[in-house]
Amino acid sequence: MKIIVLGAGIIGISTAWHLLEAGHEVTVVDRQPDAALETSKANGAQISVSFCEPWANAAAPWKVARWLLSDDSPLLFRPRLDPHQWRWGLSFLGQCTDAAFERNVRQLVALGRYSHESLKTLVARTGIEYQRLERGILHFFSTATDFEAGTQAAQLMREHGVDRRVLGRDEVLAIEPALAAFGAHIHGGTYTPSDESGDACVFTQRLAALCQARGATFLYETAVDGLDAVGGRIAGVRVRSLRHGTTRTLSADHYVAAMGSHTAPLLRPLGMWLNIYPAKGYSATMRLRRPEAASTVSLLDDTRKIAISRLGDTIRVAGTAEMAGYDDSLEGRTAQRRCAALVKRYEELFPGVADTSEPNYWTGLRPSTPTNIPYIGRSRVPNLWLNAGHGTLGWTHGAGSGQALAELISGRRPALAFGFCGDALRPARPYVPVAARGASTL
Ligand SMILES: Cc1cc2nc3c(=O)[nH]c(=O)nc-3n(C[C@H](O)[C@H](O)[C@H](O)COP(=O)(O)OP(=O)(O)OC[C@H]3O[C@@H](n4cnc5c(N)ncnc54)[C@H](O)[C@@H]3O)c2cc1C
Repeated sequence: MKIIVLGAGIIGISTAWHLLEAGHEVTVVDRQPDAALETSKANGAQISVSFCEPWANAAAPWKVARWLLSDDSPLLFRPRLDPHQWRWGLSFLGQCTDAAFERNVRQLVALGRYSHESLKTLVARTGIEYQRLERGILHFFSTATDFEAGTQAAQLMREHGVDRRVLGRDEVLAIEPALAAFGAHIHGGTYTPSDESGDACVFTQRLAALCQARGATFLYETAVDGLDAVGGRIAGVRVRSLRHGTTRTLSADHYVAAMGSHTAPLLRPLGMWLNIYPAKGYSATMRLRRPEAASTVSLLDDTRKIAISRLGDTIRVAGTAEMAGYDDSLEGRTAQRRCAALVKRYEELFPGVADTSEPNYWTGLRPSTPTNIPYIGRSRVPNLWLNAGHGTLGWTHGAGSGQALAELISGRRPALAFGFCGDALRPARPYVPVAARGASTL
């Protein structure tokens, strides 16, 4: 079948790859000049199957309320006159219960496991290199109270079969000796040896090149302006060349919407109200002055809620979230403060290890759902498929989401161990994750 994939981030490219594997004819459309130049570009680099708790939990509303006034808080909700933001916020509050948290964690662990296997298979098959480090993820805590909360979270994850170990300070330092200079401030940590890290952008661009070599057509610098529906089906996608200003309509048998945060506004004219809202985050990538003294285990600093990942001769510090619309600029006071805070914290943790004079700053819009569970499956328009809303874990869930959707489009049932797949993933029906159902009109 002829299939058009809208969006060349990690999700669109992994979908394209698996569609090619299944023998389909694939065209990928993206407004950027290459793959992975928006949210998949410079993220935290973690393949985080085991640290997958959604933001929505029973304590979240109080924390968010406390953080509302502070520019450098980990999660910033800037209220706007935007009904989509309010709808998202109210749905998020609805997920802040122990029961919803438990249900969402179960689903995210299942998707993470499936996706990890999918990623390993893909890497073994293609040999793609992307600064992969299979050294686990280490979450460290600087206060006794936070460590206690981390210990409880680890217990919960172990109940879901995740190998999250609780470590004392000495064990933390044994796993990542580079933390020694900060060691006196560490109360303890939790560690998942099976998690990984690697460069999502490099991986996605290399996979896109392999897709092209297998015959996929790539239309870069081409904006998607809208979808035309005729007789209850998508008849075409209106695109515009950003180089020449020309417009045309492309048609295919099936269409995949994988445009991250921008998927929601694309589908609204069709009467589909995906509950995806952008959560802006930042990263700073710095050249290492002393690579031998830098960390190689991927880290989570609980105090600042940031990820730190080693990518070859550079170190990436990433995190924080602002629910403030589609602004993806690095300008302005808040953006500058948030970026500077990442570098400052790195220097506190690893003094003199990186060249902090010229950090490479980046910002991206996480396509967030209130549950952190993505939309994967057929929409109510039979030839329009969704692969969007991967929030904080799109790199982790990318390979599996692409594989699952390609299976569905090909008329097969994915070999998913999702607790929630059941009926919801039957190809003839929309897949709205159990926990997101109430929040969607799809
Ligand atoms: C600070 C930060 C840290 C993160 N850390 C991690 C991490 O450690 N681990 C993890 O698993 N995940 C992490 N994530 C999340 C992850 O990066 C995202 O979930 C993932 O990149 C989303 O991929 P995507 O393909 O859905 O979106 P994108 O990568 O944004 O791809 C969407 C594509 O659609 C294109 N597009 C959009 N609109 C149009 C249009 N109108 N016309 C044409 N093309 C269009 C864009 O150009 C883009 O290429 C992090 C995110 C952030 C912001």
